[in-house]
Amino acid sequence: SVKENGKDSYCFYTDSMQEKTLKHIDMINSLRRAIEEEEFVLYYQPLVNMKTGEIEGMEALVRWFHSKKGFISPLDFIPLAEETGQILEIGSWVLKTACNTKRKWEDMGFADIKMSINLSSKRLANSDVDRELERIIQSEGISVKDIQIEVTETAVMKNINTAGEVLQRMRDKGIKIALDDFGTGYSSLTYLKNLPIDVVKIDRGFIKNIEEKKQDEFIVKTVVELAHGLGKEVVAEGIETKRQLEFLREIGCDTAQGYLFSRPVPAAEIENMLIQGKNYSELVTGVTE
Ligand code: C2E
Ligand code: MG
Ligand code: MG
Ligand code: MG
Repeated sequence: SVKENGKDSYCFYTDSMQEKTLKHIDMINSLRRAIEEEEFVLYYQPLVNMKTGEIEGMEALVRWFHSKKGFISPLDFIPLAEETGQILEIGSWVLKTACNTKRKWEDMGFADIKMSINLSSKRLANSDVDRELERIIQSEGISVKDIQIEVTETAVMKNINTAGEVLQRMRDKGIKIALDDFGTGYSSLTYLKNLPIDVVKIDRGFIKNIEEKKQDEFIVKTVVELAHGLGKEVVAEGIETKRQLEFLREIGCDTAQGYLFSRPVPAAEIENMLIQGKNYSELVTGVTE
């Protein structure tokens, strides 16, 4: 009956709320410990030139290896860390570590490998982040032009006033700006036109379906044309199949990222790839045959 249903859903509701709160508190405490005990690691995923197959850069992606629970996905802890403000400390660590790794790669002779770093919504609202980044770049002595900051459409929209200014200041210094997860937020074409961005990253959600859904194929093609028309480069994220790669290459997408090339891996593995002169020219050019 209606009454029973009501009762059931009430019980379910309180239990899950309580459970959620406990999990939440547990997570906040473990995050605090994770920061202190340095349980975070950065992994890197290659960004591949779609025409030549060369590795142009890497996206730095944070990994949390919890002492008891093992791997925890950034999709699970980044949103919570945003809520609690702990993202500020994690974000600083990410910036420092990624720039330090960039320094190491420059020292190894791989100076023009771009480093692309994700910046969270809260950090974008903090108008000091561009100065923080500038200080780190200076103290590491690395080249500004090979640093790229990724911000999601949603993060920009949440802080449209400060975000625009912070991004503009970073861009004025020569840092590249990429709009991440493009197509999943609510920004309008006016923002795409006016925001100080160099690169559009098409969300994996569209790439995933291009083999089955003509509509997604059409959207991706249109976004590439639109971005190029506005003078921006395009990265397709989440490429997993040769057919997806072939399609994206045909429509003139500039840069590819996805498991087809490499999963995100530790710095040491990236260093081996660089030393071996790894490139994906066969994969990239072979697909048209
Ligand atoms: P994102 O910035 O859009 O990063 C791309 C995500 O797609 C990564 O997930 C990457 O591992 C995954 N990916 C790449 N290629 C493929 C593919 O071919 N197939 C599939 N299924 N997935 C692919 P990850 O590392 O789990 O990160 C998830 C999100 O967490 C990121 O999305 C980003 O929003 C956030 N994140 C990760 N690291 C950081 C960080 O250092 N700072 C901040 N603020 N956010 C981060
Ligand atoms: Mg990203
Ligand atoms: Mg992305
Ligand atoms: Mg994404």
